[in-house]
Amino acid sequence: MARNKFDRPCYICGLTVKAGTGHFERHRGGWRTKHANVPGDGRVTCATAQASATEAQQKEKP
Ligand SMILES: [Zn+2]
Repeated sequence: MARNKFDRPCYICGLTVKAGTGHFERHRGGWRTKHANVPGDGRVTCATAQASATEAQQKEKP
């Protein structure tokens, strides 16, 4: 799989996949983006993205 070149929502978890941290793949004549299967080397998985999103939400609350 190739790295994604643009910020796109992950089709599995719905969170944004930052450019270069996940993958894109062929799907029904188009492309879809998802998080990486395994962490490391700058890759971000669904679990990592969700942990970061939760952390960010908690910081916004007093
Ligand atoms: Zn994801």
